Amino acid sequence: MDWDVGQSGVRQTHTPTNSQALNSSEAGGRIITDPPSSQPGPVGRPIGHGYPSLPPGYQNMAQPPNVPPMHPTQPYSSGPAAYPQPPMGAAQLSPSMAAMSMQAQTPDSLRVVNLLQERNLLPPTPYQPPTPCLPQDLQRVNCSPDVFCSTLTSIPQTQALLNKAKLPLGLLLHPFKDLSQLPVVTSSTIVRCRSCRTYINPFVSFLDQRRWKCNLCYRVNDVPEEFMYNPVSRSYGEPHKRPEVQNATIEFIAPSEYMLRPPQPAVYLFVLDVSHNAMQTGYVDVVCQSLLENLNSLPGDTRTKIGFITFDSTIHFYNLQEGLSQPQMLIVSDIEDIFLPTPDSLLVNFNESKELVGDLLKSLPQMFSKTMETQSALGPALQAAFKLLSPTGGRVSVFQSQLPTMGVGALKSREDPNQRASAKEIQHLSPATDFYKKLALDCSGQQVAVDLFMLTSQYCDLASLGCISRYSAGTVYYYPSYHNEHNPAQTERFQKDLKRYLTRKIGFEAVMRIRCTKGLSIHTFHGNFFVRSTDLLSLPNVNPDAGFAVQMSIEENLVDMQVVSFQAALLYTSSKGERRIRVHTMCLPVVNSLSDIFAGADVQAITGLLASMAVDRSVTASLSDARDAMTNAVIDSLSSYRTSVLTIQQPGLLSPNCLRLFPLYILALLKQRAFRTGTSTRLDDRVFAMCQLKSQPLAYLMLMIHPALYRLDDLTDEGALNVNDRTIPQPRVLQLSVEKLSREGAFLMDAGSVIYLWVGKSCNPQFLTQVLGVPNYPALPQNLTQLPELDTAESTRTRAFVGWLREQRPFYPLLHVIKDESQLKANFMQNMVEDRTESALSYYEFLLHVQQQISK
Ligand SMILES: [Zn+2]
Repeated sequence: MDWDVGQSGVRQTHTPTNSQALNSSEAGGRIITDPPSSQPGPVGRPIGHGYPSLPPGYQNMAQPPNVPPMHPTQPYSSGPAAYPQPPMGAAQLSPSMAAMSMQAQTPDSLRVVNLLQERNLLPPTPYQPPTPCLPQDLQRVNCSPDVFCSTLTSIPQTQALLNKAKLPLGLLLHPFKDLSQLPVVTSSTIVRCRSCRTYINPFVSFLDQRRWKCNLCYRVNDVPEEFMYNPVSRSYGEPHKRPEVQNATIEFIAPSEYMLRPPQPAVYLFVLDVSHNAMQTGYVDVVCQSLLENLNSLPGDTRTKIGFITFDSTIHFYNLQEGLSQPQMLIVSDIEDIFLPTPDSLLVNFNESKELVGDLLKSLPQMFSKTMETQSALGPALQAAFKLLSPTGGRVSVFQSQLPTMGVGALKSREDPNQRASAKEIQHLSPATDFYKKLALDCSGQQVAVDLFMLTSQYCDLASLGCISRYSAGTVYYYPSYHNEHNPAQTERFQKDLKRYLTRKIGFEAVMRIRCTKGLSIHTFHGNFFVRSTDLLSLPNVNPDAGFAVQMSIEENLVDMQVVSFQAALLYTSSKGERRIRVHTMCLPVVNSLSDIFAGADVQAITGLLASMAVDRSVTASLSDARDAMTNAVIDSLSSYRTSVLTIQQPGLLSPNCLRLFPLYILALLKQRAFRTGTSTRLDDRVFAMCQLKSQPLAYLMLMIHPALYRLDDLTDEGALNVNDRTIPQPRVLQLSVEKLSREGAFLMDAGSVIYLWVGKSCNPQFLTQVLGVPNYPALPQNLTQLPELDTAESTRTRAFVGWLREQRPFYPLLHVIKDESQLKANFMQNMVEDRTESALSYYEFLLHVQQQISK
């Protein structure tokens, strides 16, 4: 089984802190505005005047006709040579680039590591992706790997070479990430290549002041008159200093030609399951309370519309028309042929009907509290939602607590709990009906996205229901064993998620296109969307927490190229009704040797892409097929490295330093909920993990696959960070093995969306009193989710560290303090991926297996 591809590393992200007002970033950002086109600067200036002040780059305009290939075989020979910094653009790449650029890349990435002997694999500090081997001036302006990265930061010259490396080639994107700094340009003309429609970017070359050459298709384009004026420096005649040419990530406010229709308003429809089962969980109280608290922070403007539908065996609409003394409920019991009772008053202007909305939210929890109706007509409720939003587009938020039982889309349980652990092959990973996918595609066509919140105590067939979000570019949220009273941890998570969900930025009626330099081709997409045409992703909604991945192949040899570029352009309507385009451009070097390909491998990006590919494989083929393919990816790439890169053969399992975490990450994936076998795993838990692997940004994905473990009871300020005058301790990341734990300690595990603090039975009394505020271990309460604010150095230090971890992501991970007898201890222990379990190999055994296969 193979793919046709030829630390506990925490990925360092630069997400701004929660406290920064990210969601209002539309209002923030640097807005750069062109002058009115009637004042294009000194218009009378003669063209072709000799350009006395041109920087040297302009004069050296043409690409050398026969660029000799790079010589990365002698990469480290040149000393700290003074490289003349070309002012800009790919046109200045010189043959000496290879020698120069390899200085930036630490040769440490190719250091040979014998994995069987290496005891300390994890980097002591958060994982840093490799820096592409580019001239400094190009790398300086390159796109941040947090938003756009490649599995290989050096692109192979040919597909044959890529096949030989046996590493997957693909891109990972986090295109709508919250950014603390985003240049925003308002311009009457957005400069794009006339041939391939690429947006002008830092990696184009200027032949002279009036002509630029596209870095994707190489067409020579004219520089429009307006572009000659630089709104940043307020000077004329320096097009290469325009913000579009200085920033790899930029946002344009689009002129009217980017609109097929007037930008839609922000439209929010909430669809709530109010059957007996749903009411029992108490979730409706949480949703209504959260909406009441956050409604005023919903992104939007004076045009924002809002509506509500509830359902059990019938569908209930709410007339919220301004002027009514109270909301009116309208019940439609014919679920076979759904119609809207009063189409014009069900979706109302939020500002005008704010009071009625408030009244409804205050009364909803009581309205159905005594219901005995157990049926669920989810399918018809979704059809109603689609009808209601079709004219405008918008966002549907569905809250569901059970398998739908009535009308279209009704489902039957497909899980046999007795088979969970023993089944040889996992069944039912694909949908039982195409109803949800079809409806999602209809939604997508009308710019409607559906987000699904599953709050369940039993199997609800996420594999089928999830399709409604997957193809409409929505998100699935999943809260197994949800109950307001019986499961307070889950309830708190739901509350935090809802707050983020309701207040985060949103883009409507969006499309994303990814372009790459001629010769490269994108062929498979991962994430939640619908592929409308070969390279156009339809995203009725886009949110800042969504990640995407694409696979690539090399269709034509890239022999004459030293660099290639990739551009992702996301066109969307902001909640304030502006049409905007966010553009990310990444530039990477082309190399012609296997050692250079390996030297630039980004092990986390590779793992992330393989995880998405394995999810697809599990559904289209089988889980065991997907597991084999992941293992083979390790075997094949290390085997290729051994036979084709290493010149001196040594015993052991050898890996280049940059891939030393590859077997560990793959083993972690094999033990991940999505792919594990031999352990009792609920089908929905597995399917949800698969959804997440396909749609999370890489940074969150990596914590989910391989959490970070730290010892907390002996924190010191040694090596601490200083962030805004706060001292943030930086404990060493520990291997995920029980060997690293001790009963005398307290250990924190950061799994991305959740943080566990396991306190050992004989934990240092100092930690118990000074940090947890209890006199002894028995006094430590179960279900503690907050660290007390104690006036001790230990407490301050610990809270500073936990707070800092939380600031790394835009959502709020919950903290669970767990004792030996806590139920959650099993979750904590299951993440000890280096240890052997009944059904899975230890890390060392896995290495031996890989080595055995390589030497076959
Ligand atoms: Zn072009």
